[in-house]
Amino acid sequence: MINIKSLVLSGVILSTMVSAAIANPPPWDANTVNLEIEKLSEGVYAVYDDRAQELAVKGVPLSTSAGIIVGDDGVLLIDTMMNKRLYEQLIDLVESVTDKPIKYAVNTSFHGDHSYANYLLSADVEIIQHVNTSQFVKNNFEHDTQWMISNFGEGRGIEQAVAKTGDILINTNESIVLDLGDKQVLIKDFGFAQTGGDLMVYAQDAKVLWTGNPIVAGKPGLPWLLDGKLVSTLNTLNAVYDFLPSDAVVVPGHSLPSDKSAIKWNIDYLTEVKTQVQDAIDNKLSLEQTQAKVTMNEYRGYALFDWVHPALNVPAAYQELSE
Ligand SMILES: [Zn+2]
Repeated sequence: MINIKSLVLSGVILSTMVSAAIANPPPWDANTVNLEIEKLSEGVYAVYDDRAQELAVKGVPLSTSAGIIVGDDGVLLIDTMMNKRLYEQLIDLVESVTDKPIKYAVNTSFHGDHSYANYLLSADVEIIQHVNTSQFVKNNFEHDTQWMISNFGEGRGIEQAVAKTGDILINTNESIVLDLGDKQVLIKDFGFAQTGGDLMVYAQDAKVLWTGNPIVAGKPGLPWLLDGKLVSTLNTLNAVYDFLPSDAVVVPGHSLPSDKSAIKWNIDYLTEVKTQVQDAIDNKLSLEQTQAKVTMNEYRGYALFDWVHPALNVPAAYQELSE
């Protein structure tokens, strides 16, 4: 096992650990998955993997989710997908519900499965990103696409991706309200949630929130602390939970629309990781001993549990809480 104490827990180091863990086979295949659309409210749609109804409950990793909000003035896309194939499916779904033009596309993070197809948008579509996402794409795009190819496979359309940064940038801890005519959409940084450039999108009247990857899925899915920061992530998820009304709909980054319980499940998991890893540190356990002790088998329902929990989240928590 890697001695995490000797490493700086940067995205690059964790990326290496993760790709070693999940390189083969990819968690889902961007050449074969298909997207379907679900109407949540008038002009408000979730898009997700068409296997989700069957497989989400089994904890199987699913393709990226997206959103379509149709206002009087045009369409807002929430995330643009990883490759041309999935982008074209998303556009076909837009055209199946409206003939209004796409005016805006928001990326919930820099993660390629949420943003690589930006380059296929018409030039007049305004892309909305967190300022840190824009900065990341400017500085790391080439490395990031290589990492994504190592995880999602060659020939999945990642090779064709072209870096495309935002036209409208949202600063840390800030938000904007986008006016689509008859609908107002809040696009907000609630705080560090996975990348430090995390935007959540809230259709205010319909009470629908798209979370992006900080909430991969509800139960039995688990969060991925790819860049560490367990404590900040927990604070942010609690803030999101408190923000939402009790009847809100939550669309996770890779699953079916759910409700606030999807966020609560992730909060409960991270709270338990924090408690148990802190206890191990207080008892002077090494990382290896902590990984062996903090098994949390009640969360094994997630198909990627064996790397996301012992190989990623526990070491990330151990590193942070030891400081
Ligand atoms: Zn994702």
